[in-house]
Amino acid sequence: MSQPAKFLPSTPLPADPADFLLDAAAPARYEHDMARAVRAVSSRLARCTAPSTGVDHADLRLEVAAVDLDHPLGDTSRALRELEHLYLRDAVYFHHPRYLAHLNCPVATPAVVADAVASAVNSSLDTWDQSAGGTLIEQRLIAWTCARLGFDATASDGIFTSGGTQSNLHALCLAREHALGAPDAGRIQGLARLRVFASADAHFSVRTATGLLGLSEDAVVTVPVDERRRMRADALQAAIAAARDDGLVPMAVVATAGTTDFGAIDPLREIAEILQRQPDPVWMHVDAAYGGGLLVSPGRRALLDGIERAHSVTVDFHKSFFQPVSASAILVRRAEWMDAARHHADYLNPMRMAQAGIPNQVDKSLQTTRRFDALKLWLTLRVMGADAVGVLFDRVIDLAAAAYELLGTDPRFEVVTASDLSTVVFRYAPARMVARMDTCAAGTLDDANLAARAALSANAEAVIASTTVDGCTFLKFTLLNPRTTLDDIADVLDRIAGHASAHLAARPSLAS
Ligand SMILES: *Cc1c(COP(=O)(O)O)cnc(C)c1O
Repeated sequence: MSQPAKFLPSTPLPADPADFLLDAAAPARYEHDMARAVRAVSSRLARCTAPSTGVDHADLRLEVAAVDLDHPLGDTSRALRELEHLYLRDAVYFHHPRYLAHLNCPVATPAVVADAVASAVNSSLDTWDQSAGGTLIEQRLIAWTCARLGFDATASDGIFTSGGTQSNLHALCLAREHALGAPDAGRIQGLARLRVFASADAHFSVRTATGLLGLSEDAVVTVPVDERRRMRADALQAAIAAARDDGLVPMAVVATAGTTDFGAIDPLREIAEILQRQPDPVWMHVDAAYGGGLLVSPGRRALLDGIERAHSVTVDFHKSFFQPVSASAILVRRAEWMDAARHHADYLNPMRMAQAGIPNQVDKSLQTTRRFDALKLWLTLRVMGADAVGVLFDRVIDLAAAAYELLGTDPRFEVVTASDLSTVVFRYAPARMVARMDTCAAGTLDDANLAARAALSANAEAVIASTTVDGCTFLKFTLLNPRTTLDDIADVLDRIAGHASAHLAARPSLAS
């Protein structure tokens, strides 16, 4: 077949483009190309001496822009070589012990293998007739997670989602329908009066969800936290009562089991007790996107006591179960609560199929076509087992506790509070400087801490995060790598102090 010159490939393409498809005729190409890809990644991992190269986005953008997407290379090995410098070389590597920034984990090898299988077979978990065993594996894992939560595994249900954001949206959608009851003319007025209670440190996706669900702008009532950054149960009780006095309708409480910044676990049992005493039912959602890993912890499962009383729970397997992005689930204590988002389409999952007992997961999902993300958790449990996952999570929680101790005795730093999980929030703030400044007002300390963070990245020393506490800039370690040591932490702290004090040296009156 003749093509215009500019479309000529660098190496001959197969005579028939169908030869690129993964089918019965393809095993040789598939095995060869997969092996190349695996080698490209493993050799990069072996050479990786820092979690990031600190590459500048403007530089990298030029290289990505220079690729002629209308000029295929025709050969996977060549494309992988190109990818090496466009992506693999400068990617951010979460497996590196000095990646200390966000809720990203090194991934379990069985899970990576499972992802490759899931992509190759390409099941879609919306209907039984597109997935067969995939649907049953997902259902077993939902039941397994429900049992770990303390739900009755035969009466509960749930669905895998793309992440905590979607799980929270799904949960609040069910809660909204629960609060509104059957559709009627009063629905719109009813929507405006619904209130959702969440701590000041709850994830922003709660607010996103209430917006998408048509609730009013001030639908989320912020409940203050205590000195350990946990939701104050007394304040929750008062806030619910105040809302009722104002003629508003408490729709849901979102308790967080592991806040993103502080890894704080709200008092789940007390919250459940408060909700039980309400005159009208209030939905209890537990956002355990981060703390869900405690479900397999050999030593710390008790931190989730009370979670079994929730209506719904979010668990992100891609955070504390060492799974690749993305794998999350929403779980509900009573299967029939999923009905609020149930729908049937004639072309996909007609009612007669549900009546015949055919398991079509799309019946209760917000997504239609859906990746077989459950497979990676399955293979992880079948190869490593749940205890091994929990041991790893416990290890990073221990490490965070040790880092907190270390910071507490170091006069160069100020640390906010001990975490229930694996974060540490602190800032460079030498005692002698703090004594001379009433607040961070001048922004001097803020700038010094941000400069230290930027320098760590730019010099490819470590990747850390930052956040704001009471208006001041703080730095954050999120520890999810069991291979990170306390020596790594101590060394990174020395580097932070070095960068921050160098920054302050430009302002001698404060630095001296
Ligand atoms: C990360 C996180 C989320 C959002 O989850 P995604 O998987 O990133 O969508 C929600 N809640 C909490 C507490 C989180 O830490």
